[in-house]
Amino acid sequence: MTDTLSIRLQQVGARLAEACRRAGRAPDEVALLAVSKTFPAADLREAYACGQRAFGENYVQELEQKSGALSDLAIEWHFIGPLQSNKTRIVAERAHWVHSIDRLKTAERLSAQRPADMPPLNLCVQVNVSGEASKSGCAPQDAAALARAAVVLPGIRLRGLMCIPEPGPDPVRQAAQFAALRALAEQLRAEGLALDTLSMGMSADLELAVAEGATLVRVGSAIFGRRDYQH
Ligand SMILES: *Cc1c(COP(=O)(O)O)cnc(C)c1O
Repeated sequence: MTDTLSIRLQQVGARLAEACRRAGRAPDEVALLAVSKTFPAADLREAYACGQRAFGENYVQELEQKSGALSDLAIEWHFIGPLQSNKTRIVAERAHWVHSIDRLKTAERLSAQRPADMPPLNLCVQVNVSGEASKSGCAPQDAAALARAAVVLPGIRLRGLMCIPEPGPDPVRQAAQFAALRALAEQLRAEGLALDTLSMGMSADLELAVAEGATLVRVGSAIFGRRDYQH
């Protein structure tokens, strides 16, 4: 198992390095977030032993449980799943990053609940670039207002934008959605918001995302294997 995990991590690292090379970008411009949802704390500990430091969780209960079980490790915890208002406190107390802000109310609660002795919580606004009704994320036309309202809140630091493009066989469509997120971030930067993060790209499409400017890719199954959702 250790062998498999370390080999998969190396393979993902090699894919990222090659994608950066092709895009004419430096390899250290793109951070790797290991998405560990549904996998046990022991798997994260193994990945940590291979040098991985940033882990992404989608469910508050899993974040709470694994951050407790792994409190001896210097893990950077990212919360990337839909976040209900009544569950923000654990995230405000345990996470270093939240990628899935799609309402001001959630950002306000995280801001109010972030402990004063902790550094600011890093936030990304999630944008529904595909327009699918089933997807979370704010509408592209609402992203700027949300970002402007969030950036002034204490206890948090707005870092950038996040998206999950429509899955499917059409890379041109996906590239266009990644490019749309990048354009939105550039527009906000032109307005003076200091955004440095484009959280986009997963196991199947990280090369496309890197080509379109991703600074952080969120990779799950290519590292940990296929997920079993029966939990
Ligand atoms: C599960 C998940 C990922 C990782 O997906 P893979 O296809 O397994 O790499 C990335 N981002 C979000 C928001 C996710 O929920």
